[in-house]
Amino acid sequence: MSVVGCRQLAVGYGAGPVVVGLDLEVARGEVVALLGPNGAGKTTTLMALAGALTPDEGIVTWQGEATTAPLHRRARQGLGVVLEERAVTPSLTVRQNLRIGGVDPLAALADFPELTEHLDRRAGLLSGGQQQLLTLARVLARRPVALLADELSLGLAPQVVARLLGAIRAAADDGLAVLLVEQHVRAALRVADRAVVLSRGRVRWSGPAAQARADPALVEQSYLT
Ligand code: ATP
Repeated sequence: MSVVGCRQLAVGYGAGPVVVGLDLEVARGEVVALLGPNGAGKTTTLMALAGALTPDEGIVTWQGEATTAPLHRRARQGLGVVLEERAVTPSLTVRQNLRIGGVDPLAALADFPELTEHLDRRAGLLSGGQQQLLTLARVLARRPVALLADELSLGLAPQVVARLLGAIRAAADDGLAVLLVEQHVRAALRVADRAVVLSRGRVRWSGPAAQARADPALVEQSYLT
């Protein structure tokens, strides 16, 4: 059953919809990669699913039912959101970043042993990849039912991207529903079950990730601006 999704969604910023006629469903245990060139409407879609933007048309669904709950209420219902900007507080330690997130530091880092040794380091002194791992550890520690992740691996080295996406895949294998917006198209398709490719706010392709991976033209188009 769909955990988070939308039906015939149209959404934008007041000057006409940026995304039109979008049907999307993400089920328990599934990673769906939302791909497409810059400006295609990926972030806008994610913001609407998170409850941060109000649809012009159509509905957003949560656990199969229409919802208009704002972001903070959806968070309490089990929706985890990681937005594009780095979410850690640089001047606080790793431990403090986890505590202000309301989670137990040691439990949060159980699956992220590479951060345990840095518990008392200021987050701003960690590498970009470690900071993103910390962001992910903190959101996963709240045991969300669904995760919306926007460009978690922006600007990171391939090995770090693989580590982050691997952690997301592992969480999905434990039942999490994941909608992944990624510029690292090939890396995203390696961990995704399905892909939805947007172009100018409309779905131009959707299907199994393995099929998308085997289609170089589609992968190239997902990068084009
Ligand atoms: P990117 O990878 O560049 O983030 P994207 O696929 O996530 O691309 P969106 O960020 O959803 O695309 O942007 C889709 C369109 O909406 C673009 O034309 C963009 O200029 C416009 N847009 C995005 N944010 C706003 C905003 N806050 N106000 C007005 N227009 C916006």
